[in-house]
Amino acid sequence: MATFNLLLLPGDGIGVETMAEVERLIAFFNKKSNKAQFATSTDLVGGVAYDTHGVAITDAAMAKADAADAIIFGAVGGPKWDSVPYEHRPEAGLLRLRKDLDLFANLRPAICYPALADASTLKREVVEGLDILILRELTGGTYFGEPKEIVTLENGEKRGVDTTVYTTREIDRLARVGFDLARKRRNKVHMAAKWNVMRTGVLWRDVVTATHKAYAPDVTLEHILADNCAMQLIRNPKQFDVIVTDNLFGDVLSDEAAMMTGSLGMLPSASLGAPDPKTGKRKSLYEPVHGSAPDIAGQGLANPIATIASFAMALRYSLDMAKEADLVDQAIADVLASGLRTGDIMQPGMTKVGTTEMGKAIAAALEKLTA
Ligand code: NAD
Repeated sequence: MATFNLLLLPGDGIGVETMAEVERLIAFFNKKSNKAQFATSTDLVGGVAYDTHGVAITDAAMAKADAADAIIFGAVGGPKWDSVPYEHRPEAGLLRLRKDLDLFANLRPAICYPALADASTLKREVVEGLDILILRELTGGTYFGEPKEIVTLENGEKRGVDTTVYTTREIDRLARVGFDLARKRRNKVHMAAKWNVMRTGVLWRDVVTATHKAYAPDVTLEHILADNCAMQLIRNPKQFDVIVTDNLFGDVLSDEAAMMTGSLGMLPSASLGAPDPKTGKRKSLYEPVHGSAPDIAGQGLANPIATIASFAMALRYSLDMAKEADLVDQAIADVLASGLRTGDIMQPGMTKVGTTEMGKAIAAALEKLTA
């Protein structure tokens, strides 16, 4: 039987509460599964790590993160730490994880559960059953390219400069992740770039085409201009499976896609690194898109679904447990269909529950699905 090492980093605020519901599911799978077991260890990150150790994440926790098969992250931050030194602010823990583990591929799924389709600003028939994945390059491009400056010109005017830079290697390694992900889904990749007006866009199109030919001819590839992609996401989002794109376009397109699914409390994400040369396994961190929600922290009100769905992504993309991931996703859908809602997704006529009740209901639905 395989044993997977999971590092749990609950962090601050509601991160602690939503992670407890992931632990409930881990206990369920450990009891139920004869295929794999989870060995978990927990450590501090963010404000709570600063309070205890004076840093947002310790070297010891980083070593555990480096060795883990997957990291499940809660959330960090809160007003308590607003005045700590900049380099020790809670977010520094997350940024160090991303940087030291070189997590260059950011996965943002947009899934619309049928029971929540009416909560979207788009028509039910456009979003119901939506399941797409935006793959955003996270460590290069416009946000990091040099020069990056505001200079004062001789005539006193100011000039702001951001530079978009990509290399073949950066594009190729992201495209490979995209093709790998598509193979575990509906086998289709759209590459979104602006090759009509940007030199980096031409490079993206050429490199992704070459990678496709050499690495993934079995996957369907289409190129789409990023502006048209933004339009098509609103017009007919279900035409997409995986959208591969750069850091800047990915930032915008993933937020656009996310809004089709309702609440922040529903959105999972993942960040992946390069495959280990010996084992082929990628470093990986899974986290909800939301923050630590200080306004509701400690009250048992948080929606745990984003963190639970992040765990389901870890099952699918890092632990080769797609069947179990499907079961978790189905359990979430069943619980929503039964009418249970946390406050953030509450609708008239539904039953309002807290974090623990929602987590318990999802575990019970899993039990039923696997009975
Ligand atoms: P937030 O995501 O924490 O909260 C925004 C709003 O959404 C709040 O009203 C909150 O109550 C609600 N909300 C968020 N998640 C919810 C959930 N699971 N269930 C129910 N309601 C939920 O964003 P914010 O208020 O801008 O930031 C709060 C703190 O979190 C700040 O310190 C910020 O820096 C930090 N933050 C951390 C991360 C991270 O850890 N990755 C991400 C974003 C913000």
